[in-house]
Amino acid sequence: MKKRLIPAQKSLLLPGRASETVVSRTLISRRAFNGGIGAMAFAAGTAGHAQPARPDQKLGVALVGLGSYSTGELAPALLETKSCYLAGVVTGSPEKGKKWAHDFRFPERNIFSYETMADLRNAPDIDIVYIVTPNALHAQHAIAAARAGKHVISEKPFTTSVADAEAVIAACREAKVKLSIGYRLHFHPFYNELMRLTREKEFGEFTSARGENAYQKKDETAGWRFGKTLGGGPVRDLGIYVIQAACMAAGDVASVSITAQQGPATRPKFFVDIEESMAWTMTFSNGLVCDCTTSYVNKREQNDFRAEGPQGWIKIKNAFGYRDLEGATSRTRLIYNPRPPVRLQALQMDDFARCIIEDRPSRVPGEMGLRDVKITAAIFEAAATGERVQLKL
Ligand code: NAD
Repeated sequence: MKKRLIPAQKSLLLPGRASETVVSRTLISRRAFNGGIGAMAFAAGTAGHAQPARPDQKLGVALVGLGSYSTGELAPALLETKSCYLAGVVTGSPEKGKKWAHDFRFPERNIFSYETMADLRNAPDIDIVYIVTPNALHAQHAIAAARAGKHVISEKPFTTSVADAEAVIAACREAKVKLSIGYRLHFHPFYNELMRLTREKEFGEFTSARGENAYQKKDETAGWRFGKTLGGGPVRDLGIYVIQAACMAAGDVASVSITAQQGPATRPKFFVDIEESMAWTMTFSNGLVCDCTTSYVNKREQNDFRAEGPQGWIKIKNAFGYRDLEGATSRTRLIYNPRPPVRLQALQMDDFARCIIEDRPSRVPGEMGLRDVKITAAIFEAAATGERVQLKL
């Protein structure tokens, strides 16, 4: 088969298989320390207000919530970033904070608790606050960060209610800080190709699509994801990626209508007040119909996306994984040079830092997060009522 690099994305690299767990002093790149130079320039500025950045500056990031995603992906990615570095943390555990400060060589004064987030305004070397807590807490932590004058990245799903999402957007607007969502797939070349195909209609307008993000969650991993209180459940956790891909295949359209069916309760001991699985169909106003499924109880892992138009198709396997995605179109296999390894999360955080430095909008703004929170709410409504739910986009 003839191999082809996607021309516009030659420089984008697949994230590699760098160690995800070991975060030691020796692993820390020199770049992480160089961030301090820019940071000192900030120190001279007014505390508590986002300051204009210099073009050569590296911005300081504070991670809020040091759970598995921060530890396994974001912190290692911050060793690969060029325009930002790990400058602090917000954690409920002072001991953990000290260990992170030691391992990543940031000052212990940049360890905050959830209760002292307002004090972030006195940390001039922290520019971006990245919210990585359970879903239902994103809003309160994002608002606290914005009020402290920091630019905000919120993990997906943006929030668990439309009202919360609107409140975060309003808080960021009021504080004049930028807001983005941790939608890493927007930084993967295969998804850039999907969006390009949608935009340029190379295969005609996509008419049908299908996305599955489902697996079996082990009982021993039961935690906040298995309950409603903190915004658990597969729709918000995994289904959000399928929603994202469907919207990429639809492009800039006016509306979507949604039908949904919740799957049967097979493990009520673990899934007391949330769905185990969900199947839904999104019919966009341009005619694209996307069938979507997500589940925590699928015996067989499913992780695929495919969109089809009158003149061709694109499919992505391991579609929502961190790495090792496989892509093809009806014309060609999608490949690109995987060296040196760069994590999607590094590309995502660097892009947001550049947005701040160059004062331009993020490609994954709060409004996109709000759109997806509305879609998620429509899925739950459609499943509960059995009715088709119409939504303006
Ligand atoms: P986790 O449970 O491993 O970590 C959550 C962290 O939040 C922990 O450090 C915990 O101590 C802290 N926390 C603060 N207040 C808490 C409270 N009241 N109850 C429970 N924990 C509390 O979860 P995770 O897998 O790291 O996920 C965190 C966020 O990151 C979620 O929003 C998730 O959707 C998102 N995430 C995104 C990706 C991605 O690829 N973009 C991948 C994984 C997780």
